[in-house]
Amino acid sequence: MKFLNGKVAIVTGASKGIGAGIAKAFGTEGASVVVNYASSKAGADHVLAELADAGCHAIAVKADVSNPKDVEHLFAETKATFGRLDILVNNAGVFRFEPFEDISVDEFHREFSTNVLGPILTIQEAIKQFGFHGGRVINLSSLAGSRSLPNGILYSATKAAVQSLTQGLSSKLGARGIRINAIAPGYTRSEGTASEGLMSEESIKHYASITPLGRLGEPEDIAAAAVFLASDAAAWITGETIRVGGGAR
Ligand code: NDP
Repeated sequence: MKFLNGKVAIVTGASKGIGAGIAKAFGTEGASVVVNYASSKAGADHVLAELADAGCHAIAVKADVSNPKDVEHLFAETKATFGRLDILVNNAGVFRFEPFEDISVDEFHREFSTNVLGPILTIQEAIKQFGFHGGRVINLSSLAGSRSLPNGILYSATKAAVQSLTQGLSSKLGARGIRINAIAPGYTRSEGTASEGLMSEESIKHYASITPLGRLGEPEDIAAAAVFLASDAAAWITGETIRVGGGAR
């Protein structure tokens, strides 16, 4: 039995990393998938090819989640192609690790626009499209959302906001049969962590050593939790943030 048969899902930031993992897992579980990306068309096309190989119906849509017009376009394309929407995964996110003193106004706007305004805009559109059958929203927070990292104060603040948004919206959306939850991953292998210089042998050893299960997360680990939250198995769960980090705190 497939967990997401007949469902239509938008996964933002699905051209690489955790988002690509979630898009592929959703396709494998029977969903039709909208692969959103900001600039990496090649990455999105690669994910589409893998979904096609798995027999999944999928399209790629370029849209900056912090731009209202782009977000409207993302949802219009979804409706035009699939005629319905069941699941929204707000995965698109950016991070930079630097001392508090170095946080610039531009970086503040970059992180808050993508990580916080983005989910607000997409959820506003999603609740217009979710039908009488309700819907499921999954937001990507981070372990850093509840325990600020010394050189990631700004990023942690964005992810705390994501958790607050998730909890706060659950009471508003519950009456319409829309469940909203967040996943807080621990340190997870991705293109983003690699380009931030966090995949050195030394970093990997360090994060594995502070993780009870003794290794880094993989996109597939996070995707498994997203499949669960998107499925009817999580029918009684809303407003929660679930840590998926091998026991790390
Ligand atoms: P990556 O940097 O590997 O991938 C980020 C994705 O987001 C890309 O597909 C990118 O698209 C997309 N994206 C970035 N900005 C925008 C935008 N404005 N509009 C649309 N898409 C955008 O990130 P990860 O896979 O590491 O992280 C995914 C999510 O998980 C993020 O929200 C992150 O904060 C969270 N997370 C990650 C952890 C980790 O250790 N990896 C730990 C905890 C949380 P494009 O390639 O086209 O630019």
